[in-house]
Amino acid sequence: MGNMDQVYSPDDFRKHAHKVVDMVADYLAKVIDDPQEKTLSWKEPLAQYEYWKDYFQQPINPDPLPLFKEVIARSINIHNKKYMGHQVAVVPPVTSLSALLLSILNNGMGVYEMGMTGNSLEKVVIEKISEKIGFDNHSSGFVVSGGTIGNLTAILAARAAKSNAWSEGNQDRKFSILVSAEAHYSIDRAARILGLGSEAVLKVPVDENYQIKIDELERVYTQATTDNKIIICLVGCACSTATGIYDDLESLGKFCQKNNIWFHVDGAHGGAAIYSSKYNHLLKGIQLANSVIIDFHKMMMTPSLSTALLFKNESDSYKTFSQKASYLWDNEENHDWYNSAMRTMECTKSMSILNVYTLFKCYGEQVFSDNIDMLFGLAETLHILLEQNNNFEIAVTPQSNIVCFRYQLPGKDSNNLNAFIYKEITKQGVFYITQTSLNSNIYLRVSLMNPLTGEKELKFLIDTISKIASTFK
Ligand SMILES: *Cc1c(COP(=O)(O)O)cnc(C)c1O
Repeated sequence: MGNMDQVYSPDDFRKHAHKVVDMVADYLAKVIDDPQEKTLSWKEPLAQYEYWKDYFQQPINPDPLPLFKEVIARSINIHNKKYMGHQVAVVPPVTSLSALLLSILNNGMGVYEMGMTGNSLEKVVIEKISEKIGFDNHSSGFVVSGGTIGNLTAILAARAAKSNAWSEGNQDRKFSILVSAEAHYSIDRAARILGLGSEAVLKVPVDENYQIKIDELERVYTQATTDNKIIICLVGCACSTATGIYDDLESLGKFCQKNNIWFHVDGAHGGAAIYSSKYNHLLKGIQLANSVIIDFHKMMMTPSLSTALLFKNESDSYKTFSQKASYLWDNEENHDWYNSAMRTMECTKSMSILNVYTLFKCYGEQVFSDNIDMLFGLAETLHILLEQNNNFEIAVTPQSNIVCFRYQLPGKDSNNLNAFIYKEITKQGVFYITQTSLNSNIYLRVSLMNPLTGEKELKFLIDTISKIASTFK
């Protein structure tokens, strides 16, 4: 019995959906155009939790509009021009429509019939990106749920290329991973998940520009081989999360070729620069990689989660999870690109590629190149503005859309001061920026994710920081 007819009613859906779309459009207009609009309304975690706990007790209502209004009012507004925080895409509204479609279709992707379109869209988009990168037609890839899973999967593939540990376990072999000291924590986590322990992550020191030091790389590698460690891969940052600095991929790639090491490029954030003719030089050498990840949901304007995992050699991508799953496919020896679960950690997987494909189809490749040029350009503008103000110390000249800097006041502890500034900015909620620790010092960190942001907002940010700093005791 029950009210399943109403739950699935197309008429109810139409009625509610029209109102939701109008509400979202009004929200966007307000957030984008009203300079008074805050980026977030800060609440302590417990207060937020209590609110939603009380809300849960209220009567049920088949119209989701009131709920959605509350969700918006209590969320961070990334479309605000003063959003300069963590690296998630400020999504073009059309992707909320593709997201609607992929939700209602809910095609599971794991096997061909459950994702006939999805698996094909993935192959098309992956081939386009692989070509951009400079991979040839032996390459292959697919979409995974986020950069963290992408890095883990690539490292599993690297180990599978080197050993049969996928079947036999690590045994006593000392598998190790070479990474920059600035690498994302997901690499360290992947090593632990593989059962290698944290000591397996050999962190190579960086220079004053936060790039991996090539001579140190040689030293760490020689020491590792002396210690009978088996290097399964070297991970290059393109770019690193904290500073937005790119490793010298060409040198890393050559080092890997010389020593027969799998080269993985973590381009979760900055791999998308391949679309910019102005900035793609930062990725010079990326074609030497055995595997690459690029998050669509960071610099490719797509809703979370959606990550491209690319392999130079298609055959490598099938070794990672080779295993029988007879209810899904008949023969695990077949290289069926269209049975996506053969190669992914996920069994059921979202058809998130539709969001990316939609952007390509609605706005063309140009939209990705414009996005990179605007965001990286904004970081250059911010860098210039900061340099004009004697109170700011800049950690490193930005290469991407990430800028790290700190405010300095004579006689005041810079770490306390900048931690204070970060907290105050978040509580005021006008802007959203982040903080990071570099060489054990606290820096403010801005990642310019919103292509609608302009110089006006950057100047306003500098004023806001200066005002807050003047209240520090
Ligand atoms: C964000 C990021 C990751 C993790 O990706 P998720 O999609 O957040 O899981 C990995 N590496 C780098 C360099 C990143 O910036």
